[in-house]
Amino acid sequence: MYKTLLVFCTTFTVISNVSAAQNYQGFDYPNKATNAISITFDDARHSQVDTGLAILNKHHIKATFYVSPFNIKERLHDWKKVVTTGHEIANHTSSHLCTGNFEWLRQQSLSLEQTSLKWLEKDILDAQRYIIKHLGVTPRAFAYPCGNTFIGRGLETQSYVPLIAKHFDTGRTWLDETANNPNFTDFAQLTSLRIDDMTFEEVIAMLKQHRENNSWIILAGHEIGEKGQYTTDAAMLEELIQYIKDPRNGYWLGTVSDIANYIKRRRKPF
Ligand SMILES: [Zn+2]
Repeated sequence: MYKTLLVFCTTFTVISNVSAAQNYQGFDYPNKATNAISITFDDARHSQVDTGLAILNKHHIKATFYVSPFNIKERLHDWKKVVTTGHEIANHTSSHLCTGNFEWLRQQSLSLEQTSLKWLEKDILDAQRYIIKHLGVTPRAFAYPCGNTFIGRGLETQSYVPLIAKHFDTGRTWLDETANNPNFTDFAQLTSLRIDDMTFEEVIAMLKQHRENNSWIILAGHEIGEKGQYTTDAAMLEELIQYIKDPRNGYWLGTVSDIANYIKRRRKPF
């Protein structure tokens, strides 16, 4: 019995190794890059147009901004400049609803635990209409506020990922532990890695950890200025852009929608 089990286990190990090897298929990016990378910022915080835009434009790179109308309204003129300089504008809901464990949301009796898919769909489409009307672009990408992808609680919990898959080409989460395998990742739940509160050395170490399988690495931040819990350090960002642009480092940099479209056309799903 033991012998039979051993043979079975050995065979299974060989089969699973073969299957793992078959599962890995390389992925080719433009300019012989080994990885794709996107730089993204959430919430349309004012420091993104006050500090970040000049850095991005100076180096001629395009980022993806996941925006909510309540912040755009206060700086509409500046956000129009973000559009005209070729950056991607994406949807981040109207209400920025997250789990009610965030005190400031729960106090208003507003939270993902307390809402419905119908309410949330309207909230997302209201943001979409605002962006189309005031910025003249139609977002194809979405980021889940706080990275939360559910509504309700316990047995009544529902995912709102299908809602995002219905209305957008991509949905991005937050605070993940992996990059995206181009042949495997779900475009409605793209992962992202935090760049807020990190030094250049820490970000480079993180990038090196996530280069396997020709991954697509999506970086995500909030404010841009002096390093802090929700602030991407401006000097780090500039150094990082120069690092990513250096062809010797093997990255193809693009907006989320540009890279998603490229991968969708060429992926070999398994
Ligand atoms: Zn947010």
